[in-house]
Amino acid sequence: MNTERNKGRLAYMTEPGSLEIRDYDLPTDIEPGAALLEVLQTNVCGSEVHIFQGKHPLFRCGGLGHEMVGKVLALGEALSTDSAGTPVAVGDRVVPIYHAVCGHCENCVRGIPNACVLSYHHFAKTHLRPHFHGGTFATHYYLHADQPFFRVPENVSDAAASAANCALSQVLHGLDRANLTLGQTFVIQGAGGLGLSAAAVAKERGARVIVIDRVAERLQLAKAFGADHLVNFDQVTELADRVKLVQQIAGAEGADVVM
Ligand SMILES: [Zn+2]
Ligand SMILES: [Zn+2]
Repeated sequence: MNTERNKGRLAYMTEPGSLEIRDYDLPTDIEPGAALLEVLQTNVCGSEVHIFQGKHPLFRCGGLGHEMVGKVLALGEALSTDSAGTPVAVGDRVVPIYHAVCGHCENCVRGIPNACVLSYHHFAKTHLRPHFHGGTFATHYYLHADQPFFRVPENVSDAAASAANCALSQVLHGLDRANLTLGQTFVIQGAGGLGLSAAAVAKERGARVIVIDRVAERLQLAKAFGADHLVNFDQVTELADRVKLVQQIAGAEGADVVM
């Protein structure tokens, strides 16, 4: 942590594989509808690994990190509730949607704000003022007025909340669209952050959950997240055998939904 109270610190990727720690003044003029947060917890998402390895189609440099939970340090004018209408005050914990939602573009108007054409408006742009935006590998985060955000209830831990704006929300949305319902069989291929979140969400929806992976520790985690059946890729190496296994559990028609 920086000892100067008006300064913050962030990690900037100058090129794939190379990080630089940078100090900047914290913004003092918080725009209407915006907020300044202190980052309480941020996660390393699979996307950060891809970006750091130079495998992302868009980003070759910039601030990293997007999964986070933060504490409100300052609120801009006219900001008194989160995007669901829950009152927010300085000191509250909140989770922002990490991309921008303009509300006016074709996709926003069509009701798919997750595909807003301006979604990457702030993303990774920590070299530009107010610096603490678009990247959560930082001490602070500037929440822009075009980023929806939500207050975190008291009984939800930082660890649980900090993946809610990426892994958890993506599988919630995906399983909504796939209309996964009670009693269906759901196969998850890959027990990473999204796969594990999906196991928990699917279990809550009453589905029968089968998880396939080749890492034993991940499979054990999948079980803790609600998986009913585990298939180790390395033990069932033939595709036809894995299909047969799923059919034994789900019936001849196989899985209803696959992720
Ligand atoms: Zn993520
Ligand atoms: Zn938009």
